[in-house]
Amino acid sequence: MMKDFIYFDCAATTMPYQEVLETYSKISTQYFANASSNHGLGFLSSSVLEKARAQIAKYLHANSDDIYFTSGATEGNNLAIKGVAYHNRGWAKRIITSKAEHPSVTNVFEELEKEGFDVIYIDYDTEGKLNLEQLKNALNEHTSLVSIMAVNNEVGYIFPMHEIYQIVKKNSKAVLHVDATQAIGKEDLSYSDYDMMTFSGHKIGGLKGSGIFVKKKNVELDAQILGGSQERNLRAGTSAVNLDCSLATALRMTLESQKERKANAKVINDYLRNELSKIEEIVITSPVDATPFILAFALKEHKGSVIAEALSNEGIYVSTKSACSSREAGYSSVLKNAGYDENIASNGIRLSFSGKENLNQAKQFVETLKRLFDEIKVRQ
Ligand code: PMP
Repeated sequence: MMKDFIYFDCAATTMPYQEVLETYSKISTQYFANASSNHGLGFLSSSVLEKARAQIAKYLHANSDDIYFTSGATEGNNLAIKGVAYHNRGWAKRIITSKAEHPSVTNVFEELEKEGFDVIYIDYDTEGKLNLEQLKNALNEHTSLVSIMAVNNEVGYIFPMHEIYQIVKKNSKAVLHVDATQAIGKEDLSYSDYDMMTFSGHKIGGLKGSGIFVKKKNVELDAQILGGSQERNLRAGTSAVNLDCSLATALRMTLESQKERKANAKVINDYLRNELSKIEEIVITSPVDATPFILAFALKEHKGSVIAEALSNEGIYVSTKSACSSREAGYSSVLKNAGYDENIASNGIRLSFSGKENLNQAKQFVETLKRLFDEIKVRQ
């Protein structure tokens, strides 16, 4: 048995819902056949897969034909960005993203830039305000794609997708891709505010290795994984019927509980923001209008990595920056690009919640943090 711990790292991953595990287990045994097999058991697998697709479409207010199963947001982001950029490379060299994106978006844009695409990275400030004027001016007749995240994973900025969508449509023929990995189950995102959307199952109480790519009918793109004709020729590979069905369960559970979890996350976030803001050593880097599921702050004197490790030794689990890059030394480019100096950007700590935590845990966190500040020498 694991001893009691405090887990404030839900933006990195979440513990799966029991119901998700039950779906996974049931589908794995009862519907093990290949969903592409041309026999009775194969048809059963394919029908349960299509049922999951229809459920997911219903939860997202989308059409079943818009839903493509993937292995997660990284794959979905690669598909959306490369797929559209390559498909339209004949007439469109310009593609646009923000400076706050996850590496599964940024690294793809950097790669495309090396291949000759003209990439514009949109700025934002410490309040998480994206420069929409810059976006408007960057759009031109040779722009095929804009990719902007709905909620930032390190600081919790909420970008105004409705406004962004209007700007993109008014000023170009480009399609808008939204990385909604940190938005699903946390913040509302309307089906009418994107052309393509991606997320991962494991951030919403689902399983690692499952994900969704939503693409509206009018969007044309090149497949990035070639092989069989699964997922209407857009994503080859034997369908993971068990994972795909488990994602339908996770999406239902996370959306059904969103309101309640969000209210609770807000109580915990408000308490922590209030307590942490009294500590001279701390700069809170999440703006007040960030999602309540993420509270990021930075340390002026102590090393963020040392404090995170000391918290971990006490059974309190937090991240320094995003989990995907937190083992790499150096500063957070999300904080640096917001305008913080390198010292602050190198010593960030991110608390992220599911909304199922309680105030006692938040209190224990603050007490432990204060004690560690007293015990651990400040950096040389
Ligand atoms: N986008 C965002 C905003 C994320 O937070 C993450 C996960 N940290 C990803 C994409 C990538 O998700 P995955 O690792 O599940 O593919």
